[in-house]
Amino acid sequence: MALASRTTGNPYLRNARNVLRNVMVAGVPCKRTAWGDGLDQLIEGYRRFRREGWPERQRMFQALAQDGQRPAALVIGCVDSRVDPSAIFDVAPGEILTVRNVANLVPPYAPDAAYHGTSAALEFAVRVLRVPHVVVLGHGQCGGIHALLRGAPDEAQDFVAPWMGIAAPARAQALCCDTPEAQQRCLEHEAIKLSLANLMTFPWITERVADGSLTLHGAWFAIHTGVLALLGPDGTFTAVA
Ligand SMILES: [Zn+2]
Repeated sequence: MALASRTTGNPYLRNARNVLRNVMVAGVPCKRTAWGDGLDQLIEGYRRFRREGWPERQRMFQALAQDGQRPAALVIGCVDSRVDPSAIFDVAPGEILTVRNVANLVPPYAPDAAYHGTSAALEFAVRVLRVPHVVVLGHGQCGGIHALLRGAPDEAQDFVAPWMGIAAPARAQALCCDTPEAQQRCLEHEAIKLSLANLMTFPWITERVADGSLTLHGAWFAIHTGVLALLGPDGTFTAVA
């Protein structure tokens, strides 16, 4: 299906345009207080960046603008605000690509007309930029994994619940663990392995892994200790020394 007909034929999009038009005509006030507080914080951060970060990093940004990017890895992380790949790996702009989604999942290869944000990022990283490493970065206390174990909230049924279905094959194994905590940890780990297996359903990833130009990695980050563990060939996660 052509992109134009998919968007113009979308009843939700038509409704959104009508709502926006009415708001603009009627001047309906937005909820400025809550959003304003958040935006003030962001703008203040931006000003700090311009005042302190930009002079230090100006040359680096200008080199990136002039020479383009050559990131060393694509990190597939969770949308969770506590698990920032750039902070965990202490990298500067230009050093890694990141794509973040709920529970850091990779769907299987499916070149159809649906919108595949994570797969599009993979294609760009692996085929266009030819990154040498792809890292699936999971984490403790993952809300997406919790939703798969215990059921997604009513407010998260449109997209989160079906999205988490990607990791459903690992759920039964996790439920064999004795405690809710062990089930959560097990599913966080198994979902990473499942995403690594799904990566290998992409033909251009399989090709690059086979010729040795691309390596896939699994990692898991504990928020409360700040410790990163890597997935080894024996299927277990071991803390980085
Ligand atoms: Zn998460």
